[in-house]
Amino acid sequence: MYDNNNIFAKIIDGKIPCKKIYEDKDVLFFEDINPVSKIHILGIPKVKCVDFSDFISGYHKDVVANFFQKADEVIEKLGIKENGYRIISNSGVDGGQEVPHFHIHILGGEKIGAKIR
Ligand code: 5GP
Repeated sequence: MYDNNNIFAKIIDGKIPCKKIYEDKDVLFFEDINPVSKIHILGIPKVKCVDFSDFISGYHKDVVANFFQKADEVIEKLGIKENGYRIISNSGVDGGQEVPHFHIHILGGEKIGAKIR
């Protein structure tokens, strides 16, 4: 069940500020408030979905494909494609998910090593 009051819903609505990297009518990419690497970006689709499975099963494949295409464009814009990066999506209790709106973490700008988020 999607919680309309979660932090990322408020960020999408502009009720909570964020440092935007890229935004259009469908997606938003912004800096994580508590970065674990030199570059730590969060990417969210602007649809009501709790986690990865909810997003994949609940929305048309064009919506899903567009989100990941935009993520690749952001990675290009960040200049981290050549050296590499890590994409993570936490889900549920065992996955350590804190915010119940599907999101990806894009980590880069340095060797990520064993760091996970
Ligand atoms: P999760 O553990 O759900 O995968 O990750 C949630 C992420 O959201 C964490 O890395 C946390 O630092 C970030 N975060 C939580 N609240 C805010 C906020 O208000 N603004 C931003 N920019 N990031 C947030």
